[in-house]
Amino acid sequence: MSNLPWFWIGLGALVVVSVAVNLWLNQRAAKATPLCQHCDSKRVKEIKRDIVQSRTIEFNAGGMSGGGDVRLQFDYDLTYSCEDCDRKMVIRLTETQ
Ligand SMILES: [Zn+2]
Repeated sequence: MSNLPWFWIGLGALVVVSVAVNLWLNQRAAKATPLCQHCDSKRVKEIKRDIVQSRTIEFNAGGMSGGGDVRLQFDYDLTYSCEDCDRKMVIRLTETQ
């Protein structure tokens, strides 16, 4: 029975690692950081995120009646600050929940 705790600790560590890797991959995919509009620098960071408006949209699932899927959609204004030229830019982003 003395092996049992190590089994669970190992399993826990495995889960933590795989979740961390998943998060890291998701973050990399989501981080399509734009270039600075003023000096083309990649060193921009998001400093503010405002929801401009939200609405519901309906997806029709293949023309089947009653197969509609209602989603929430948000428009964001993302404000980025450039670390090279210290200027700011705003990018409109639409995100479907
Ligand atoms: Zn810049």
